[in-house]
Amino acid sequence: MTSAETDLLARVPAQLFIGGEWVDAARGATFAVHDPSTGEVVREIADASPEDGIRALDAAVAAQDAWAATAPRERGEILRRAFELVQEHKEDLALLMTLEMGKPLAESRGEVAYGGEFLRWFSEEAVRISGRYGTNPEGTGRIVVSQRPVGPSFFITPWNFPLAMATRKIAPALAAGCTVVVKPAELTPLTTLFFVRLLAEAGVPAGVVNVVTTTSSGEVSAPIIADPRLRKLSFTGSTPVGQKLIAQAAEGVLRVSMELGGNAPFVVFEDADLDKAVEGAMLAKFRNIGQACTAANRFIVHESVAAEFARRVTERVEAMRVGRGTEDGVQIGPLIDDRAVAKATELVADAVERGARVLVGGNAVEGRGSFYEPTVVEGVVPGSAILREEIFGPVLAISTFSDEDEAVRLANDTEYGLVSYVFTESLSRGHRMIDRLETGMMGLNVGVVSNAAAPFGGVKQSGVGREGGLEGIHEYLSVKYTLIPA
Ligand code: NAD
Repeated sequence: MTSAETDLLARVPAQLFIGGEWVDAARGATFAVHDPSTGEVVREIADASPEDGIRALDAAVAAQDAWAATAPRERGEILRRAFELVQEHKEDLALLMTLEMGKPLAESRGEVAYGGEFLRWFSEEAVRISGRYGTNPEGTGRIVVSQRPVGPSFFITPWNFPLAMATRKIAPALAAGCTVVVKPAELTPLTTLFFVRLLAEAGVPAGVVNVVTTTSSGEVSAPIIADPRLRKLSFTGSTPVGQKLIAQAAEGVLRVSMELGGNAPFVVFEDADLDKAVEGAMLAKFRNIGQACTAANRFIVHESVAAEFARRVTERVEAMRVGRGTEDGVQIGPLIDDRAVAKATELVADAVERGARVLVGGNAVEGRGSFYEPTVVEGVVPGSAILREEIFGPVLAISTFSDEDEAVRLANDTEYGLVSYVFTESLSRGHRMIDRLETGMMGLNVGVVSNAAAPFGGVKQSGVGREGGLEGIHEYLSVKYTLIPA
Protein backbone atom coordinates (compact mmCIF):
# COMPACT_ATOMS: atom_id res chain seq x y z
CA MET A 1 0.00 0.00 0.00
CA THR A 2 1.25 3.51 -0.76
CA SER A 3 1.60 6.15 1.96
CA ALA A 4 -1.27 8.14 0.38
CA GLU A 5 -3.48 5.07 0.70
CA THR A 6 -2.47 4.42 4.30
CA ASP A 7 -3.05 8.07 5.16
CA LEU A 8 -6.52 8.07 3.58
CA LEU A 9 -7.53 4.83 5.32
CA ALA A 10 -6.47 6.28 8.67
CA ARG A 11 -8.93 9.15 8.09
CA VAL A 12 -11.92 6.84 7.66
CA PRO A 13 -14.07 6.71 10.80
CA ALA A 14 -13.94 3.20 12.22
CA GLN A 15 -17.00 3.39 14.47
CA LEU A 16 -20.78 3.39 14.23
CA PHE A 17 -22.48 6.75 13.72
CA ILE A 18 -25.47 7.02 16.06
CA GLY A 19 -27.26 10.20 17.14
CA GLY A 20 -24.48 12.38 15.76
CA GLU A 21 -21.72 10.56 17.70
CA TRP A 22 -19.07 8.09 16.57
CA VAL A 23 -19.38 5.16 18.95
CA ASP A 24 -17.98 1.66 19.39
CA ALA A 25 -20.22 -1.33 18.92
CA ALA A 26 -21.96 -2.18 22.22
CA ARG A 27 -20.17 -5.53 22.46
CA GLY A 28 -16.84 -3.95 21.40
CA ALA A 29 -16.58 -6.19 18.33
CA THR A 30 -14.75 -5.21 15.15
CA PHE A 31 -14.23 -6.73 11.71
CA ALA A 32 -11.73 -6.39 8.88
CA VAL A 33 -12.32 -4.85 5.46
CA HIS A 34 -10.14 -6.23 2.65
CA ASP A 35 -8.67 -5.01 -0.63
CA PRO A 36 -9.94 -7.57 -3.18
CA SER A 37 -6.94 -6.98 -5.45
CA THR A 38 -4.49 -8.21 -2.80
CA GLY A 39 -6.55 -9.80 -0.05
CA GLU A 40 -4.85 -7.42 2.42
CA VAL A 41 -6.75 -6.01 5.39
CA VAL A 42 -7.23 -2.28 4.81
CA ARG A 43 -9.15 -1.25 7.93
CA GLU A 44 -10.71 -2.74 11.05
CA ILE A 45 -14.12 -1.23 11.92
CA ALA A 46 -16.94 -1.61 14.42
CA ASP A 47 -19.11 -4.71 14.10
CA ALA A 48 -22.62 -3.87 15.31
CA SER A 49 -24.94 -6.27 17.09
CA PRO A 50 -28.76 -6.04 17.25
CA GLU A 51 -28.77 -3.63 20.22
CA ASP A 52 -26.67 -1.18 18.19
CA GLY A 53 -29.19 -1.35 15.37
CA ILE A 54 -32.03 -0.51 17.76
CA ARG A 55 -29.97 2.32 19.27
CA ALA A 56 -29.56 3.74 15.75
CA LEU A 57 -33.31 3.46 15.17
CA ASP A 58 -33.95 5.18 18.55
CA ALA A 59 -31.80 8.09 17.33
CA ALA A 60 -33.60 8.28 13.97
CA VAL A 61 -36.99 8.21 15.71
CA ALA A 62 -35.93 10.93 18.16
CA ALA A 63 -34.78 13.20 15.31
CA GLN A 64 -37.78 12.60 13.02
CA ASP A 65 -40.22 15.34 14.08
CA ALA A 66 -37.66 18.14 14.13
CA TRP A 67 -36.24 17.10 10.75
CA ALA A 68 -39.72 16.92 9.20
CA ALA A 69 -40.38 20.41 10.57
CA THR A 70 -37.13 21.82 9.17
CA ALA A 71 -37.86 24.15 6.26
CA PRO A 72 -37.59 22.39 2.91
CA ARG A 73 -35.21 25.12 1.73
CA GLU A 74 -32.89 24.37 4.63
CA ARG A 75 -33.01 20.63 3.97
CA GLY A 76 -32.18 21.38 0.36
CA GLU A 77 -29.30 23.65 1.29
CA ILE A 78 -27.77 21.03 3.55
CA LEU A 79 -27.93 18.52 0.70
CA ARG A 80 -26.39 21.08 -1.63
CA ARG A 81 -23.49 21.56 0.83
CA ALA A 82 -23.10 17.79 0.98
CA PHE A 83 -22.90 17.74 -2.83
CA GLU A 84 -20.15 20.35 -2.71
CA LEU A 85 -18.22 18.47 -0.01
CA VAL A 86 -18.38 15.32 -2.13
CA GLN A 87 -16.84 17.30 -5.01
CA GLU A 88 -14.11 18.62 -2.69
CA HIS A 89 -13.32 15.10 -1.50
CA LYS A 90 -13.85 13.32 -4.78
CA GLU A 91 -10.31 11.96 -4.99
CA ASP A 92 -10.47 10.56 -1.45
CA LEU A 93 -13.85 8.96 -2.08
CA ALA A 94 -12.73 7.48 -5.40
CA LEU A 95 -9.54 5.99 -3.99
CA LEU A 96 -11.38 4.59 -1.00
CA MET A 97 -13.89 2.87 -3.26
CA THR A 98 -11.11 1.37 -5.35
CA LEU A 99 -9.34 0.13 -2.23
CA GLU A 100 -12.34 -1.63 -0.71
CA MET A 101 -14.20 -2.68 -3.85
CA GLY A 102 -11.53 -2.96 -6.55
CA LYS A 103 -12.93 -1.04 -9.50
CA PRO A 104 -10.47 1.01 -11.60
CA LEU A 105 -9.90 4.50 -10.25
CA ALA A 106 -11.37 6.14 -13.38
CA GLU A 107 -14.63 4.26 -12.74
CA SER A 108 -14.59 5.16 -9.06
CA ARG A 109 -14.33 8.82 -10.09
CA GLY A 110 -17.30 8.23 -12.37
CA GLU A 111 -19.26 6.81 -9.45
CA VAL A 112 -18.41 9.81 -7.26
CA ALA A 113 -19.78 12.07 -10.01
CA TYR A 114 -22.91 9.93 -10.42
CA GLY A 115 -23.46 9.42 -6.69
CA GLY A 116 -22.94 13.12 -5.98
CA GLU A 117 -25.62 14.05 -8.50
CA PHE A 118 -28.34 12.56 -6.29
CA LEU A 119 -27.41 15.07 -3.60
CA ARG A 120 -27.66 17.95 -6.07
CA TRP A 121 -30.85 16.65 -7.73
CA PHE A 122 -32.71 16.12 -4.46
CA SER A 123 -31.40 19.37 -2.97
CA GLU A 124 -33.43 20.94 -5.77
CA GLU A 125 -36.46 18.67 -5.27
CA ALA A 126 -36.78 19.33 -1.52
CA VAL A 127 -38.56 22.64 -2.22
CA ARG A 128 -40.91 21.18 -4.83
CA ILE A 129 -42.93 18.87 -2.61
CA SER A 130 -46.48 19.95 -3.30
CA GLY A 131 -50.07 18.82 -3.11
CA ARG A 132 -53.38 19.90 -4.62
CA TYR A 133 -56.57 21.62 -3.69
CA GLY A 134 -59.89 21.23 -5.45
CA THR A 135 -63.65 21.06 -5.19
CA ASN A 136 -65.37 17.69 -5.11
CA PRO A 137 -67.67 16.86 -8.07
CA GLU A 138 -70.77 17.35 -5.89
CA GLY A 139 -69.64 20.87 -5.03
CA THR A 140 -70.14 20.14 -1.36
CA GLY A 141 -66.55 20.06 -0.20
CA ARG A 142 -62.96 20.89 -0.81
CA ILE A 143 -60.36 18.21 -1.31
CA VAL A 144 -56.93 18.98 0.08
CA VAL A 145 -54.11 16.58 -0.81
CA SER A 146 -50.80 17.04 0.94
CA GLN A 147 -47.60 15.01 1.16
CA ARG A 148 -45.96 14.15 4.44
CA PRO A 149 -42.60 12.48 5.08
CA VAL A 150 -43.05 8.73 5.53
CA GLY A 151 -40.91 8.74 8.68
CA PRO A 152 -37.86 6.83 9.94
CA SER A 153 -36.41 4.72 7.13
CA PHE A 154 -33.97 1.82 7.05
CA PHE A 155 -31.55 1.31 4.16
CA ILE A 156 -29.57 -1.78 3.27
CA THR A 157 -27.04 -1.25 0.46
CA PRO A 158 -24.85 -3.58 -1.65
CA TRP A 159 -21.09 -3.61 -2.20
CA ASN A 160 -20.92 -2.96 -5.93
CA PHE A 161 -21.62 0.81 -5.87
CA PRO A 162 -20.62 1.82 -2.33
CA LEU A 163 -21.30 5.55 -2.72
CA ALA A 164 -24.09 5.83 -5.29
CA MET A 165 -26.34 3.23 -3.64
CA ALA A 166 -26.11 5.23 -0.40
CA THR A 167 -26.72 8.70 -1.91
CA ARG A 168 -29.54 7.40 -4.12
CA LYS A 169 -31.48 6.52 -0.95
CA ILE A 170 -30.23 9.06 1.60
CA ALA A 171 -30.68 12.17 -0.59
CA PRO A 172 -34.38 11.71 -1.43
CA ALA A 173 -35.18 10.61 2.13
CA LEU A 174 -33.55 13.68 3.65
CA ALA A 175 -35.14 15.96 1.03
CA ALA A 176 -38.56 14.53 1.94
CA GLY A 177 -37.98 15.03 5.67
CA CYS A 178 -37.27 11.44 6.73
CA THR A 179 -34.54 10.35 9.12
CA VAL A 180 -32.55 7.22 8.32
CA VAL A 181 -30.52 4.27 9.51
CA VAL A 182 -28.09 2.92 6.91
CA LYS A 183 -26.51 -0.53 6.92
CA PRO A 184 -23.86 -0.69 4.21
CA ALA A 185 -22.55 -3.98 2.79
CA GLU A 186 -19.95 -5.53 5.08
CA LEU A 187 -17.52 -5.90 2.15
CA THR A 188 -17.45 -2.14 1.38
CA PRO A 189 -18.53 -0.05 4.39
CA LEU A 190 -15.67 2.48 4.34
CA THR A 191 -17.01 4.75 1.58
CA THR A 192 -20.33 5.12 3.43
CA LEU A 193 -18.57 5.94 6.70
CA PHE A 194 -16.44 8.59 5.00
CA PHE A 195 -19.47 10.01 3.20
CA VAL A 196 -21.55 10.20 6.36
CA ARG A 197 -18.84 12.25 8.01
CA LEU A 198 -19.22 14.68 5.10
CA LEU A 199 -22.98 14.76 5.67
CA ALA A 200 -22.43 15.75 9.30
CA GLU A 201 -19.99 18.43 8.15
CA ALA A 202 -22.63 19.69 5.70
CA GLY A 203 -24.96 20.33 8.65
CA VAL A 204 -27.15 17.23 8.82
CA PRO A 205 -28.41 17.36 12.44
CA ALA A 206 -27.62 14.62 14.95
CA GLY A 207 -29.80 11.55 14.57
CA VAL A 208 -31.00 12.36 11.04
CA VAL A 209 -28.53 9.91 9.49
CA ASN A 210 -27.19 6.93 11.44
CA VAL A 211 -24.89 4.17 10.24
CA VAL A 212 -24.42 0.65 11.53
CA THR A 213 -21.71 -1.52 10.01
CA THR A 214 -21.95 -5.22 10.76
CA THR A 215 -21.08 -8.71 9.65
CA SER A 216 -24.41 -9.93 11.10
CA SER A 217 -26.69 -8.26 8.56
CA GLY A 218 -29.68 -10.53 9.11
CA GLU A 219 -29.52 -10.40 12.91
CA VAL A 220 -29.10 -6.63 13.05
CA SER A 221 -31.70 -5.86 10.37
CA ALA A 222 -34.56 -8.11 11.50
CA PRO A 223 -35.36 -6.29 14.79
CA ILE A 224 -35.17 -2.91 13.05
CA ILE A 225 -37.60 -4.09 10.37
CA ALA A 226 -39.89 -5.59 13.02
CA ASP A 227 -39.94 -2.37 15.07
CA PRO A 228 -43.30 -0.56 14.72
CA ARG A 229 -41.55 2.82 14.80
CA LEU A 230 -39.91 2.10 11.44
CA ARG A 231 -41.95 3.36 8.47
CA LYS A 232 -39.96 2.42 5.41
CA LEU A 233 -37.44 -0.14 4.20
CA SER A 234 -35.35 0.43 1.10
CA PHE A 235 -33.04 -2.32 -0.08
CA THR A 236 -30.63 -2.72 -2.97
CA GLY A 237 -29.16 -6.15 -3.43
CA SER A 238 -29.94 -9.63 -4.67
CA THR A 239 -33.44 -10.89 -5.34
CA PRO A 240 -33.29 -13.79 -2.81
CA VAL A 241 -32.38 -11.42 0.05
CA GLY A 242 -34.99 -8.91 -1.20
CA GLN A 243 -37.66 -11.62 -1.05
CA LYS A 244 -36.74 -12.40 2.57
CA LEU A 245 -36.89 -8.73 3.49
CA ILE A 246 -40.27 -8.23 1.80
CA ALA A 247 -41.58 -11.14 3.89
CA GLN A 248 -40.23 -9.53 7.07
CA ALA A 249 -41.67 -6.16 6.07
CA ALA A 250 -45.08 -7.72 5.44
CA GLU A 251 -45.48 -8.35 9.19
CA GLY A 252 -45.68 -4.62 9.88
CA VAL A 253 -47.15 -3.72 6.46
CA LEU A 254 -44.03 -1.62 6.01
CA ARG A 255 -43.56 0.44 2.88
CA VAL A 256 -40.72 -1.02 0.80
CA SER A 257 -38.54 -0.09 -2.14
CA MET A 258 -36.60 -2.97 -3.63
CA GLU A 259 -33.82 -2.57 -6.20
CA LEU A 260 -32.99 -6.18 -6.93
CA GLY A 261 -31.16 -8.30 -9.45
CA GLY A 262 -31.10 -8.01 -13.23
CA ASN A 263 -30.47 -10.15 -16.29
CA ALA A 264 -30.25 -7.47 -18.94
CA PRO A 265 -30.67 -8.42 -22.58
CA PHE A 266 -28.50 -6.55 -25.09
CA VAL A 267 -30.24 -6.92 -28.43
CA VAL A 268 -28.37 -6.09 -31.64
CA PHE A 269 -30.62 -6.00 -34.71
CA GLU A 270 -29.40 -6.50 -38.27
CA ASP A 271 -29.98 -2.78 -38.91
CA ALA A 272 -27.84 -1.66 -35.93
CA ASP A 273 -24.86 0.64 -36.28
CA LEU A 274 -22.23 -1.90 -35.20
CA ASP A 275 -19.78 0.79 -34.06
CA LYS A 276 -22.39 2.04 -31.59
CA ALA A 277 -23.30 -1.50 -30.59
CA VAL A 278 -19.68 -2.45 -29.83
CA GLU A 279 -19.11 0.78 -27.91
CA GLY A 280 -22.33 0.19 -25.94
CA ALA A 281 -21.41 -3.45 -25.31
CA MET A 282 -18.04 -2.56 -23.80
CA LEU A 283 -19.71 -0.17 -21.37
CA ALA A 284 -22.76 -2.26 -20.58
CA LYS A 285 -20.66 -5.36 -19.97
CA PHE A 286 -17.30 -4.35 -18.53
CA ARG A 287 -18.15 -1.28 -16.45
CA ASN A 288 -17.68 -2.17 -12.78
CA ILE A 289 -15.96 -5.39 -13.94
CA GLY A 290 -19.39 -6.66 -14.94
CA GLN A 291 -20.62 -6.40 -11.35
CA ALA A 292 -23.65 -4.20 -11.91
CA CYS A 293 -27.34 -4.97 -11.70
CA THR A 294 -27.54 -3.10 -15.01
CA ALA A 295 -24.72 -5.12 -16.61
CA ALA A 296 -25.67 -6.62 -19.97
CA ASN A 297 -25.97 -10.33 -19.21
CA ARG A 298 -27.27 -11.82 -22.47
CA PHE A 299 -26.05 -10.55 -25.85
CA ILE A 300 -28.79 -11.48 -28.28
CA VAL A 301 -27.45 -10.68 -31.74
CA HIS A 302 -29.06 -11.09 -35.17
CA GLU A 303 -27.54 -14.11 -36.92
CA SER A 304 -26.46 -11.98 -39.93
CA VAL A 305 -24.21 -9.71 -37.82
CA ALA A 306 -23.26 -12.00 -34.91
CA ALA A 307 -19.88 -13.09 -36.31
CA GLU A 308 -18.81 -9.52 -37.06
CA PHE A 309 -20.04 -8.28 -33.65
CA ALA A 310 -18.16 -11.12 -31.91
CA ARG A 311 -14.98 -10.36 -33.89
CA ARG A 312 -15.06 -6.68 -32.97
CA VAL A 313 -15.79 -7.10 -29.26
CA THR A 314 -13.12 -9.80 -29.04
CA GLU A 315 -10.58 -7.41 -30.54
CA ARG A 316 -11.48 -4.81 -27.94
CA VAL A 317 -11.42 -7.31 -25.06
CA GLU A 318 -7.99 -8.66 -26.10
CA ALA A 319 -6.59 -5.15 -25.57
CA MET A 320 -8.01 -4.73 -22.05
CA ARG A 321 -5.63 -4.37 -19.14
CA VAL A 322 -6.27 -6.34 -15.96
CA GLY A 323 -4.77 -5.25 -12.64
CA ARG A 324 -5.15 -3.38 -9.38
CA GLY A 325 -7.63 -0.54 -9.85
CA THR A 326 -5.11 2.06 -8.72
CA GLU A 327 -2.70 1.30 -11.60
CA ASP A 328 -2.76 3.57 -14.64
CA GLY A 329 -4.62 2.23 -17.64
CA VAL A 330 -6.24 -0.72 -15.83
CA GLN A 331 -9.77 -1.40 -17.14
CA ILE A 332 -10.51 -4.65 -15.32
CA GLY A 333 -9.93 -4.79 -11.58
CA PRO A 334 -10.54 -7.77 -9.30
CA LEU A 335 -13.93 -9.33 -8.65
CA ILE A 336 -15.22 -8.76 -5.15
CA ASP A 337 -14.05 -12.13 -3.80
CA ASP A 338 -13.02 -15.67 -4.74
CA ARG A 339 -16.63 -16.85 -4.74
CA ALA A 340 -17.35 -14.43 -7.60
CA VAL A 341 -14.38 -15.88 -9.53
CA ALA A 342 -15.65 -19.40 -8.92
CA LYS A 343 -19.11 -18.42 -10.16
CA ALA A 344 -17.78 -16.92 -13.44
CA THR A 345 -15.66 -20.06 -13.91
CA GLU A 346 -18.66 -22.36 -13.43
CA LEU A 347 -20.94 -20.37 -15.73
CA VAL A 348 -18.40 -20.37 -18.56
CA ALA A 349 -17.70 -24.10 -18.07
CA ASP A 350 -21.43 -24.88 -18.26
CA ALA A 351 -21.86 -22.78 -21.43
CA VAL A 352 -18.87 -24.48 -23.09
CA GLU A 353 -20.10 -27.94 -22.12
CA ARG A 354 -23.34 -27.16 -23.94
CA GLY A 355 -21.53 -26.07 -27.10
CA ALA A 356 -20.41 -22.43 -26.70
CA ARG A 357 -16.90 -21.35 -27.81
CA VAL A 358 -14.54 -19.12 -25.84
CA LEU A 359 -13.11 -16.42 -28.14
CA VAL A 360 -10.93 -14.71 -25.53
CA GLY A 361 -10.30 -15.14 -21.79
CA GLY A 362 -12.20 -17.83 -19.94
CA ASN A 363 -9.89 -18.28 -16.96
CA ALA A 364 -9.34 -17.13 -13.44
CA VAL A 365 -6.05 -15.24 -13.09
CA GLU A 366 -3.46 -17.07 -11.01
CA GLY A 367 -1.86 -15.29 -8.05
CA ARG A 368 -2.96 -12.78 -5.43
CA GLY A 369 -6.43 -11.23 -5.47
CA SER A 370 -9.73 -12.32 -7.02
CA PHE A 371 -9.19 -11.75 -10.75
CA TYR A 372 -11.01 -13.23 -13.75
CA GLU A 373 -10.00 -12.54 -17.34
CA PRO A 374 -12.32 -10.42 -19.50
CA THR A 375 -14.02 -13.02 -21.64
CA VAL A 376 -16.14 -13.42 -24.77
CA VAL A 377 -18.10 -16.60 -25.49
CA GLU A 378 -20.22 -17.12 -28.61
CA GLY A 379 -22.77 -19.71 -29.63
CA VAL A 380 -24.38 -19.85 -26.18
CA VAL A 381 -27.37 -22.20 -26.42
CA PRO A 382 -30.75 -21.95 -24.67
CA GLY A 383 -30.76 -23.69 -21.30
CA SER A 384 -27.24 -22.52 -20.39
CA ALA A 385 -27.00 -21.27 -16.81
CA ILE A 386 -25.26 -18.10 -18.01
CA LEU A 387 -28.55 -17.01 -19.64
CA ARG A 388 -30.58 -17.50 -16.46
CA GLU A 389 -28.27 -16.21 -13.72
CA GLU A 390 -26.62 -12.86 -13.10
CA ILE A 391 -23.02 -13.39 -14.20
CA PHE A 392 -21.64 -10.51 -12.11
CA GLY A 393 -18.30 -10.79 -13.85
CA PRO A 394 -16.54 -9.72 -17.06
CA VAL A 395 -18.03 -12.38 -19.33
CA LEU A 396 -19.75 -11.36 -22.58
CA ALA A 397 -22.01 -14.20 -23.73
CA ILE A 398 -23.42 -14.13 -27.27
CA SER A 399 -26.40 -16.03 -28.64
CA THR A 400 -28.30 -15.38 -31.87
CA PHE A 401 -31.84 -14.81 -33.20
CA SER A 402 -33.41 -14.68 -36.62
CA ASP A 403 -36.39 -12.30 -36.42
CA GLU A 404 -37.86 -9.56 -34.24
CA ASP A 405 -40.45 -11.76 -32.53
CA GLU A 406 -37.75 -14.22 -31.53
CA ALA A 407 -35.59 -11.37 -30.20
CA VAL A 408 -38.47 -10.13 -28.04
CA ARG A 409 -39.25 -13.64 -26.81
CA LEU A 410 -35.62 -14.29 -25.85
CA ALA A 411 -35.16 -10.85 -24.25
CA ASN A 412 -38.27 -11.31 -22.08
CA ASP A 413 -37.42 -14.91 -21.18
CA THR A 414 -36.26 -14.14 -17.63
CA GLU A 415 -37.86 -13.52 -14.26
CA TYR A 416 -35.95 -10.22 -14.09
CA GLY A 417 -36.86 -6.92 -15.76
CA LEU A 418 -34.45 -4.19 -14.76
CA VAL A 419 -32.89 -2.80 -17.93
CA SER A 420 -32.67 -3.74 -21.61
CA TYR A 421 -30.33 -2.45 -24.29
CA VAL A 422 -31.48 -2.31 -27.89
CA PHE A 423 -29.41 -1.39 -30.92
CA THR A 424 -31.26 -0.54 -34.13
CA GLU A 425 -31.17 2.36 -36.55
CA SER A 426 -34.90 1.96 -37.20
CA LEU A 427 -36.93 4.49 -35.25
CA SER A 428 -40.15 2.50 -35.56
CA ARG A 429 -38.46 -0.69 -34.40
CA GLY A 430 -36.94 1.21 -31.46
CA HIS A 431 -40.40 2.41 -30.45
CA ARG A 432 -41.84 -1.09 -30.80
CA MET A 433 -39.13 -2.39 -28.47
CA ILE A 434 -39.98 0.25 -25.85
CA ASP A 435 -43.50 -1.20 -25.82
CA ARG A 436 -42.66 -4.89 -26.13
CA LEU A 437 -39.77 -5.42 -23.71
CA GLU A 438 -40.66 -6.20 -20.09
CA THR A 439 -38.24 -3.83 -18.47
CA GLY A 440 -38.11 -0.90 -16.07
CA MET A 441 -35.47 0.91 -18.12
CA MET A 442 -34.17 0.79 -21.65
CA GLY A 443 -31.07 2.06 -23.41
CA LEU A 444 -31.77 2.64 -27.10
CA ASN A 445 -28.40 2.65 -28.88
CA VAL A 446 -26.58 3.34 -25.61
CA GLY A 447 -24.90 1.11 -23.03
CA VAL A 448 -25.45 3.07 -19.79
CA VAL A 449 -28.78 4.55 -18.67
CA SER A 450 -28.19 5.64 -15.05
CA ASN A 451 -28.89 9.31 -14.37
CA ALA A 452 -29.94 11.07 -11.17
CA ALA A 453 -32.72 12.86 -13.07
CA ALA A 454 -34.29 9.59 -14.28
CA PRO A 455 -36.35 6.96 -12.42
CA PHE A 456 -34.14 3.92 -11.82
CA GLY A 457 -35.87 0.63 -11.10
CA GLY A 458 -37.27 -2.58 -12.44
CA VAL A 459 -40.32 -4.73 -13.07
CA LYS A 460 -40.92 -8.44 -12.36
CA GLN A 461 -38.38 -9.83 -9.87
CA SER A 462 -36.07 -6.84 -10.34
CA GLY A 463 -38.03 -5.01 -7.70
CA VAL A 464 -40.54 -2.37 -6.75
CA GLY A 465 -40.15 1.40 -6.51
CA ARG A 466 -37.95 3.91 -8.30
CA GLU A 467 -34.86 5.84 -7.25
CA GLY A 468 -33.95 9.20 -8.76
CA GLY A 469 -35.94 11.44 -11.05
CA LEU A 470 -39.17 13.16 -10.13
CA GLU A 471 -40.40 9.78 -8.90
CA GLY A 472 -37.59 9.17 -6.39
CA ILE A 473 -38.79 11.50 -3.65
CA HIS A 474 -42.28 9.95 -3.64
CA GLU A 475 -40.81 6.77 -2.17
CA TYR A 476 -40.37 8.85 1.02
CA LEU A 477 -43.66 10.76 1.01
CA SER A 478 -47.10 9.57 1.95
CA VAL A 479 -50.23 11.13 0.57
CA LYS A 480 -52.69 12.65 3.00
CA TYR A 481 -56.18 13.70 1.94
CA THR A 482 -58.43 16.02 3.92
CA LEU A 483 -62.06 16.85 3.15
CA ILE A 484 -63.32 20.30 4.17
CA PRO A 485 -67.06 20.92 3.72
CA ALA A 486 -67.77 23.91 1.47
P1 NAD B 1 -26.79 -9.14 -1.27
O1 NAD B 1 -28.25 -9.29 -1.45
O2 NAD B 1 -25.99 -10.31 -0.90
O3 NAD B 1 -26.48 -8.04 -0.17
C1 NAD B 1 -27.02 -6.75 -0.23
C2 NAD B 1 -27.07 -6.19 1.17
O4 NAD B 1 -27.96 -6.97 1.95
C3 NAD B 1 -25.75 -6.18 1.91
O5 NAD B 1 -25.69 -5.00 2.70
C4 NAD B 1 -25.86 -7.40 2.80
O6 NAD B 1 -25.09 -7.28 3.98
C5 NAD B 1 -27.32 -7.37 3.15
N1 NAD B 1 -27.92 -8.64 3.56
C6 NAD B 1 -27.60 -9.89 3.14
N2 NAD B 1 -28.41 -10.79 3.73
C7 NAD B 1 -29.26 -10.09 4.53
C8 NAD B 1 -30.34 -10.45 5.38
N3 NAD B 1 -30.73 -11.71 5.55
N4 NAD B 1 -31.00 -9.45 6.04
C9 NAD B 1 -30.64 -8.17 5.88
N5 NAD B 1 -29.63 -7.78 5.09
C10 NAD B 1 -28.94 -8.72 4.42
O7 NAD B 1 -26.28 -8.45 -2.61
P2 NAD B 1 -24.80 -8.02 -2.98
O8 NAD B 1 -24.03 -9.23 -3.37
O9 NAD B 1 -24.25 -7.08 -1.96
O10 NAD B 1 -25.10 -7.12 -4.26
C11 NAD B 1 -25.24 -7.66 -5.53
C12 NAD B 1 -26.72 -7.76 -5.88
O11 NAD B 1 -27.31 -6.46 -5.78
C13 NAD B 1 -26.94 -8.20 -7.30
O12 NAD B 1 -28.01 -9.11 -7.35
C14 NAD B 1 -27.29 -6.91 -8.02
O13 NAD B 1 -28.03 -7.09 -9.18
C15 NAD B 1 -28.04 -6.18 -6.97
N6 NAD B 1 -28.03 -4.73 -7.23
C16 NAD B 1 -29.19 -4.17 -7.64
C17 NAD B 1 -29.22 -2.82 -7.92
C18 NAD B 1 -30.49 -2.18 -8.39
O14 NAD B 1 -30.58 -0.97 -8.30
N7 NAD B 1 -31.47 -2.93 -8.85
C19 NAD B 1 -28.07 -2.04 -7.78
C20 NAD B 1 -26.90 -2.66 -7.35
C21 NAD B 1 -26.91 -4.03 -7.07
